[in-house]
Amino acid sequence: MFADNPNQNNIIELRGISQSYDGGQNWIIQDFDFLIEDKPDQGQFVVLLGMSGSGKSTVLRYIAGLQKPTKGTVLVKGEEVDKQRVSMVFQQYSSLPWLTVLENVGLALKFQGVSKKERDEKAMELIKLVGLEGHEKKFAQYPTLSGGQLQRVAIARSLLANPEILIMDEPFGALDVKTRLTMQDLLTNIWRQFQSTIIFVTHDISEAVYLADDIYIMKSQPSKIVEHIHVDLPIERNRLTKRDPQYIALVHEVEDRMISVSEL
Ligand code: ADP
Ligand code: MG
Repeated sequence: MFADNPNQNNIIELRGISQSYDGGQNWIIQDFDFLIEDKPDQGQFVVLLGMSGSGKSTVLRYIAGLQKPTKGTVLVKGEEVDKQRVSMVFQQYSSLPWLTVLENVGLALKFQGVSKKERDEKAMELIKLVGLEGHEKKFAQYPTLSGGQLQRVAIARSLLANPEILIMDEPFGALDVKTRLTMQDLLTNIWRQFQSTIIFVTHDISEAVYLADDIYIMKSQPSKIVEHIHVDLPIERNRLTKRDPQYIALVHEVEDRMISVSEL
């Protein structure tokens, strides 16, 4: 049905978006466009950077179908966003603390009416993948699980809901450095394995350059994408990447561009 529709080439398409919370007196976002092309057999890692208040979380909420813009169109895989299930991983509170790890991960399948046996099986596969085997019967709450483990639950839940697209809003912002680095590598492995499109917001520029294929920088008032930086590093990233002069130069370049955007 969509065979002739050029929108199919874009996995995410935001067109002509404007956002006002006061009946059109002030526009936080105005004539905003954001396109992410589909890369079917490889997936991609897209990072959004921008000062606080530049509209990053709002854009993610549009894509997840949690909020509708005042004006404009949001398409996911060429369809209206509410026909797609895209779940989102937040910095905190991504899981339901009154449910176990197993129940949290299988949640999307429960809504789809999948039998308990089948959703437990599928959930267990992902629990193993994110390194939480043995914790599946625990409640998904702090301090029963650590911050890093709770984010693993959220990643597994999102992957089971829709492995094609993962939306992550500062997911590692509350984690200690060591856990954060481990989670970065977990995520790198996941998107390659599932060929997912990951849309990721962070304030950490070294994290952005390490993870991303493409970085977009947003400005505020009104929100707009003002910079696109393609991260031209080898697709395989590891701890040595961070010692690579090309990586270090890119971190500095992104930092400089962030500063000039903030002065716009
Ligand atoms: P970011 O995630 O980049 O920090 P947000 O998307 O959270 O930015 O917010 C973008 C702008 O929209 C901010 O100026 C914020 O104050 C404003 N905003 C967000 N939600 C509301 C709301 N419900 N009512 C009024 N303003 C809002
Ligand atoms: Mg935000």
